[in-house]
Amino acid sequence: MSESALSEPAEEPRCSAKGCRAPAVWALRWNNPKIHPPERRKIWLACDRHRQSLSQFLGRRGFLREVVPVEEAEQAPS
Ligand SMILES: [Zn+2]
Repeated sequence: MSESALSEPAEEPRCSAKGCRAPAVWALRWNNPKIHPPERRKIWLACDRHRQSLSQFLGRRGFLREVVPVEEAEQAPS
């Protein structure tokens, strides 16, 4: 969550893909079992265009846990 906790809290969530400034639509919740406790969730934000490529990136490494609409991810305390 720290990436989204920068100085401007009112700022819209943006896609995490490199160079993409589109508003985020999806939240990819993931966990690296080698460095994170099992209940921990890291979140990447994705626009519609990057949802698939970011999911595949995490999926290939076995990190992806779930993809949820961004509003849902923000409401869930972690
Ligand atoms: Zn994007």
